[in-house]
Amino acid sequence: MSDLPGRLVLLGHPVSHSLSPRFQNAALRAAGIPLVYEALDVAPEALAATLADLARQDASGNVTIPHKEAVAELCTRRSALADRCGAVNTFWHEDGALVGDNTDVGGVDAIAHALLGDARTTARVALLGAGGSAAAVLAAAERWGAARVRLYNRNMERARALASRFDASVDVAPSVEAALDGATLVVNATPVGLRDDAHPVAVDLLPTGAAVFDLVYRSGETAWVRAARNAGHRAADGEGMLVEQGALSFERWFGIEPDRNAMWSALH
Ligand code: NAP
Repeated sequence: MSDLPGRLVLLGHPVSHSLSPRFQNAALRAAGIPLVYEALDVAPEALAATLADLARQDASGNVTIPHKEAVAELCTRRSALADRCGAVNTFWHEDGALVGDNTDVGGVDAIAHALLGDARTTARVALLGAGGSAAAVLAAAERWGAARVRLYNRNMERARALASRFDASVDVAPSVEAALDGATLVVNATPVGLRDDAHPVAVDLLPTGAAVFDLVYRSGETAWVRAARNAGHRAADGEGMLVEQGALSFERWFGIEPDRNAMWSALH
């Protein structure tokens, strides 16, 4: 195992509802690592000073909303995936320098593989949303081979700006219906359905046989995932991605695989 960091933290604002401390602490206990994963609520104006403190403490950790892009800019070194996304969700220190990675991409990849298997190499993806997590979906999809993405966002300018950072396999769709046309995987990367039972797309608009991946997670799954599954679609909410990105972060910090079953059990 690598040398242990001085502290293990999650930086967010707010972080009170985050599930990460539950499953990361379960993984630490299962591995016998004498650290406690702490959630730190950091206002944007306090981020740089907090990172300076964490560097002195040789801390490692995760980053969540709204700090992923800001931490990416403050890193001395970033992985290729963090560069591609313009966002860091995992960090550690090497000789005092802040190093950032993005394991959300691996989280997306794991769920797409579970839903589509090898068919993701030729997936037709309808992607809703153009924020940070949509960038992680695009960074994952461009590694699948011949996958193509149609991106729809209510703010078209933002959709165009995101698509322009990726290659020709991403088109901006003028409507949800155009994005859905021929899709084999429909991905929600907006917060719709986070606080209520709203559906990001009506289930009867989903193409026959399309798999559904909702990045949003709620206790007992999202209403959209339940409704899509009831209509015969393979469907997964964001809980699997959350655990997988956390497991990949654990591997970056400690150089060993965590006990994923212990992580899942801590959530249920
Ligand atoms: P973000 O950067 O704030 O982007 C949000 C996107 O959703 C924007 O494109 C925004 O459109 C769109 N949007 C917001 N409200 C909307 C609405 N009412 N109707 C339609 N579109 C709407 O957020 P993010 O970091 O990408 O995260 C998005 C969601 O993904 C989060 O709420 C979270 O639940 C989920 N997430 C899950 C995981 C996981 O591990 N499972 C990881 C990251 C994120 P405009 O550009 O028009 O404002």
